Amino acid sequence: MPSARVWCRLLGVHPAVVESVELDEAEQVLVARVRLRRRDRHRCGACSRRCPRYDAGRGRRRWRALDLGTVQAFVEADAPRVQCREHGVVVAAVPWARHGAGHTRAFDDTVAWLATQSSRTSVRQLMRVAWPTVGAIITRVRADIDAQVDRLAGLRRIGIDEISYKKNHRYLTVVVDHDTGRLVWAAPGNDKATLAAFFDGRCSVSMS
Ligand SMILES: [Zn+2]
Repeated sequence: MPSARVWCRLLGVHPAVVESVELDEAEQVLVARVRLRRRDRHRCGACSRRCPRYDAGRGRRRWRALDLGTVQAFVEADAPRVQCREHGVVVAAVPWARHGAGHTRAFDDTVAWLATQSSRTSVRQLMRVAWPTVGAIITRVRADIDAQVDRLAGLRRIGIDEISYKKNHRYLTVVVDHDTGRLVWAAPGNDKATLAAFFDGRCSVSMS
């Protein structure tokens, strides 16, 4: 039986504490019950500022983690709400998932990368998620990247693709770094205006 620290790494919830891991026989999924370390508790989900606790929110909740072998895995923890002086009453942050997400960061990042590398069917079947979920994941990964890094730093060649979701009626335009495969940008839509939003005032483009 792996130690709590090993489970922590396997599930991508470091630096939280894994209290127990069980196979949910009814749903045939692995559930890891996790608690935050004291210093990570009661932080605003939007800005990570430490805030007063507001209430218990909707109680315990689960986040889908990357599969462990053939078994789907979930992280389960309390999801209290806090009162942020800037963002009001919001669900507290957890270190393993983006704010408002139902999946762990590792799961989100894997799906976002796969969506730039493989077919829609491959992503859906391999990750066992619905296509609209893929669109939502790409959108929040992009927002996270936007907030953290200059996505255009070192960018030399890009690849542009469009992916459809919601029964082919909605599209995402996806821009990847052609040299690294890294997701650079994505936005709803698949027309000139969508792509113009990427280029608008950001960089000079040379066609070769
Ligand atoms: Zn806040």
